[in-house]
Amino acid sequence: MVVVLENNISEDVKKRVRSFLENKGFKVREIIGEEDTIFGAVGSVSIDKREVELLEGVVKVVPIHKPYKLASRELKKEDTIFSVGPVKVGGNRIFIIAGPCAVESREQIIESAYAAKEAGAVMLRGGAFKPRTSPYSFQGLGEEGLKYLKEAGELTGLPVVTEVVAPGDVQMMKDYIDVYQIGARNMQNFELLKTVGSMGMPVILKRGMSATIEEWLMAAEYLLASGTEKIILCERGIRTYEPYTRNTLDLSAIPIVRKLSHLPVIVDPSHATGIRDKVLPMALAGVAAGANGLIIEMHPDPDSALSDGPQSLYPEQLEKLICDIEALTPVLGKELARLPHVNEKEAIEKNLRDTGNKPKAAFQGKPGAYSEKAVMLHFNEDDVTALPCESFKDVFDSVLKGDVQWGVVPIENSLAGSILENYDLLSQNPDVKIVGDVKVRVRHNLIARKSVDLKNIKKAYSHPQALAQCSEFLKKHNIEPVPFYDTAGAVANLNSFEDNSCAAIASAEAADLYSMSIVKEGIETNPNNYTRFVVIVREDFISVEKPVKASIILSVSDEPGALSLCLSIFADHKLNMTKLESRPIHGKPWSYRFYIDIQIPEDKDLYRKALEAIKEKATDFRVLGEY
Ligand code: PEP
Ligand code: MN
Repeated sequence: MVVVLENNISEDVKKRVRSFLENKGFKVREIIGEEDTIFGAVGSVSIDKREVELLEGVVKVVPIHKPYKLASRELKKEDTIFSVGPVKVGGNRIFIIAGPCAVESREQIIESAYAAKEAGAVMLRGGAFKPRTSPYSFQGLGEEGLKYLKEAGELTGLPVVTEVVAPGDVQMMKDYIDVYQIGARNMQNFELLKTVGSMGMPVILKRGMSATIEEWLMAAEYLLASGTEKIILCERGIRTYEPYTRNTLDLSAIPIVRKLSHLPVIVDPSHATGIRDKVLPMALAGVAAGANGLIIEMHPDPDSALSDGPQSLYPEQLEKLICDIEALTPVLGKELARLPHVNEKEAIEKNLRDTGNKPKAAFQGKPGAYSEKAVMLHFNEDDVTALPCESFKDVFDSVLKGDVQWGVVPIENSLAGSILENYDLLSQNPDVKIVGDVKVRVRHNLIARKSVDLKNIKKAYSHPQALAQCSEFLKKHNIEPVPFYDTAGAVANLNSFEDNSCAAIASAEAADLYSMSIVKEGIETNPNNYTRFVVIVREDFISVEKPVKASIILSVSDEPGALSLCLSIFADHKLNMTKLESRPIHGKPWSYRFYIDIQIPEDKDLYRKALEAIKEKATDFRVLGEY
């Protein structure tokens, strides 16, 4: 700590302060400045700073250590990431917990669970013990409510979250639930924190309504010290003088906590605002501020909810919100967490059982490539091993030979357009199908050896597309672009010769992986740079259970109106087309193959009928995948 001494302190008094600190076990150094004299006191001693502030000659004491240790970033640099059932919490995934304020009946919570899942939430909330301001308000169904909650979770595959209000309930609750929630009113109920912490199970710790960030992290420290690391901090608004909202959502707490602590943090926009229409913008703001997830109240019939109806979303509002969040996540370099579809989960588990190893997903490029990032965003990091391949064809071959279960290849870039080689590989390999897609934001960085200055850099190595996308930056800084076969490989290559005038352009991950420094972040001319990847498997491998999109290829006879006739079939069946691309067919000059993406509607019959009709009109037709 720093002990600030009075300006005109006498040597005698100063000596007494020093002896006091030394007797307590501190090492003391005096620093005399132009205006102030201070003591720097260091040591692994804990002392109430007021004891020192009361000493004669002391103006104030400034602690330099944070009172929380286990929760701090200093102790653990990397983000805490853990699993709650099939859901990965923390890191690059945004996960949505949704459900009603309270479990009101078996039917209500089961209906809510299906609605939450349908909308894209990956966990279900619902209170069985409700800490209400008035003792006359609905107090929750207690253990009976927990039984219904568990059933709803099992039916839908959603892990369940519920609030615990008494230390005596903790043991009883453990077999019903996946995540304990400690409510705002109980954030400093230390006995509750200790009992819940000792279970070692995941816990959502809400911020108390008048708690400082430090008090909140100290409450997390209690949980950590009692035995659980699986903590999710939750900002749910604090009490201020502003009556327009139920609480004031302290969004700035999110980046602060993300910096101070390694623990994941989520936002509860429902209790923060108390009003349905304010929940939507604040949910997006929470994600933009860096939250790892959201917990949102949603009720199948909010107007008749027994608690918090006015802040509960209608199911369709939740669905729209989650669509908006999905659109926002690539901007942040994140991905919306999804429940792995049953078949994918089974395939991962089966591989682990049969071989003792994780299944593999192949990508093109060196470790650190944007394609590897796509693998990591699509799959849970610990579920698969990413396998680098030299070429796109090698990715397809590894899938076909069964060396890997999945391949992940880029298909289109928002600036450069389609990656035609992969479209061609898809059409040439009928034994491969698409089972998913993932969007990655491409942020290029100028990367060099440690402590190299921008002004010394003369050449930048990278994939030609990356060089083209950063051309303005390179021109402005007089850096010569040098083509290299891939981005991450260009960074690895910097290690092979000692030349501080050379740099590479690649992802931040690549810089980290090859122990290089980022000289300048985000050097692309246009920041709207996204690449969409498709996840491919062998035809006889898994299928997606409830697909929402389909990619198809077709060619049509060379006669007037042939293409228009096919396309009108989509329109007649009310199918929304999201992409149409044409490619020349090899060996058949001036004949074209069309690549079409469509949304699969609720009414699957309509979709099937449309495909049947198109099959009749097209000369060549194949569904590349439904996902
Ligand atoms: C709740 O989540 O239902 C709840 C009561 O929240 P809070 O503790 O944040 O008020
Ligand atoms: Mn509530």
